[in-house]
Parts: sequence; C-alpha cells; structure tokens
Amino acid sequence: MGKGKILVTGGTGYIGSHTVVELFNAGYEPIIIDNLSNSSISVLDGIKAITKVPVTYENIDCKDYNSLERFFEKHQDMKAIAHFAAYKSVGESVSKPISYYRNNIVSLLNLLQLMPNFGIKNIVFSSSCTVYGQPDELPVTEQSPIKPATSPYGSTKQMCETILNDAAIANPEMNSIILRYFNPIGAHSSAEIGELPNGIPNNLLPYITQTAAGIREKLRVFGDDYNTPDGSCIRDYINVVDLAKAHVVAIDRLIEEKNKKNIEVFNLGTGNGSSVLEILNGFESATGVKVPYEIVERRAGDIEKVWADTTFANQELGWKAEIPLEESLLSAWNWQKKLQ
Ligand code: UDP
Repeated sequence: MGKGKILVTGGTGYIGSHTVVELFNAGYEPIIIDNLSNSSISVLDGIKAITKVPVTYENIDCKDYNSLERFFEKHQDMKAIAHFAAYKSVGESVSKPISYYRNNIVSLLNLLQLMPNFGIKNIVFSSSCTVYGQPDELPVTEQSPIKPATSPYGSTKQMCETILNDAAIANPEMNSIILRYFNPIGAHSSAEIGELPNGIPNNLLPYITQTAAGIREKLRVFGDDYNTPDGSCIRDYINVVDLAKAHVVAIDRLIEEKNKKNIEVFNLGTGNGSSVLEILNGFESATGVKVPYEIVERRAGDIEKVWADTTFANQELGWKAEIPLEESLLSAWNWQKKLQ
C-alpha cells in the first residue's frame, strides 16, 4: 500500500523532476502536471529510467482553471500538492513582467481556490532566497527581513508567500510549507535527469558545464571587486537531490500533521557559502576539465553574498543537505556529458 498520490505541478522541470523521483522512492505516487513551457517531455523517460515504472503525466497549464478543475475531478484522492510550476528567469521577468505575474500568481491562486473544493489541505510552495535581497546579517534565518524585490520574478515569489499567508489565516484547515531555496545545482547520480536550460544559460553551473563541453567559449565571471575574500559573489549551492528530499520530508510533515503552525517557512541550503571562483576551481578539480573564463563587469542586480542558516530546517524537519559540493559539481558534469 503506497503513501498516496501527490500532485507535482512543474514535475518535468529541474527541481520538480528530482522531487518526483524522491517522492516515488519514499513510497508516494507522484502525479505530474506540466505545460512543458520550460521543460521537455523526454524528462518522463529519464524519470522512468530511474523509477522503472511510468509516472502519470498530463499536459496542463496551471493558469487554466477549467482544465485544472477537470484534472482534480479525475484525481479525487490527492494528499498534497508540491507546486513548482512557475517562470524563473530573473532577467526575462524584467522584460516580460505581465507574463511573469500572470503565470506565477494565477497558477497559485487557481490551486488554492480548487484545493478546499476537493478536500486537499496540504501544499508545499517553491520560494527563493531572493526574498531576502542582500541580507544585513549572514547567515540568513527565516526571520531575516524580506527586502524590496529587485525583479518581477522576485516580486512574484514575495506575492505568492503573502497569498499563502493570507490563505492560511483565513482557513485554519489549510496547511502550507514555504521552502526558500538557495542555489540548486547538480543532477541525479544516475545522470538520467538534470537541469535542461533553455538557450543560453543564465545560471552559473549550466554555464560552466556548457563551457567545459565546448558549447560556450568561456565563462564570464561577473565581477571580482565585491567585498568577499576573492572578490567574486558568494552563494549557498545545494544539491538538487538534497533539495528534492526536503520536499518529501515537508510533505510527510503535512500529511502526518506534525506541522506546528498551518503555515511554516524553511530555508533550504547547506549553510556554506562558495564564491564563483571557488565553484569554478572546484569544478576543475572535481572533473579534471579546464574551464576558460574571464572576469567581466558586475551583473546588474546581483547580490554580493548570501548563505543560509539551516538550523530551523535541520531541527524541525530533521533534514540536512548531505551531498558534498564536489559530488554536486561532478554530477552536473556527468549530466552535461550525457546531453552531448
Ligand atoms: N555568475 C557568473 N557568470 C555566469 C552566471 C553567473 O559569474 O555566467 C555568477 C553570478 O554573478 C552570481 C553567481 O554566479 O554571483 C550565481 O548566479 P546564478 O545566476 O546562478 O544564481 P543567482 O544567485 O544570481 O540567482
């Protein structure tokens, strides 16, 4: 007897697909909806190569209330929702704000409106450390102040958190967990699933792996004059499988009603900061592959340094990021090689 059905919106995406696998490993039956706006149907094959059983999938856009409602009618017995489906590019959000607001906000509103009609109480929401902006104190705890967003993408994450908070106040039956991700990297150890950037990657790791593979000429390191030991920016890079496992723990917590409040927020990071140059050097030593690079101007909107205080997640969820950085970097490279 399985632990029940979990709806995974955006389940063919980077974090969604890894979470589908971990939900399956934990005895749940993940059900994917995704409109493939930034992912590929072939991800389902990658998932199946790991789980050995086909996963239920439907092409549904979470903005489309009527399709979602029909889907909920078909799957009456879902225990929880892991809501990943959202646009995520900071730069693109600046040029397409309406599309970002509409997609990210309407999708969440539709789910929240439908949940009570179908007796679904539990939702896990993908948020981001972007809500903290440049924190005044490091590491950042869940109580660190929310800073004004610097992009429409960041705004959508803040607005969705507000919506979930207000929904929780209005409906004590509702149980939400907000997970604030730091920088997810790496791929499943099987190299069957991983990150599939659309076009030229914005994020550091896919840019490094594509440069190592010869697809890009060289990595541009955005600034070496920050107030950090080597002058490049510092982030908390967390393995995507560790991140995925945190979702399983969060869903267990909601279903088993171990949550202390009907809305909770957790930082998901490793607690360690690494600079861009450290990641670059770490990649070269983990893989033995040289990555040509140049130092260029700072990128507009970049935060100088941020890493997580993970005490609350460690203590309350009993979860901890375990995969060493070196292994994450190597898994990202193994995945990239598989894509060639
Ligand atoms: N970065 C870089 N070159 C790139 C992409 C990213 O130097 O081609 C740096 C970026 O300035 C930041 C870090 O890598 O300091 C992480 O950037 P990413 O876009 O992956 O994540 P962010 O934390 O900005 O959301």
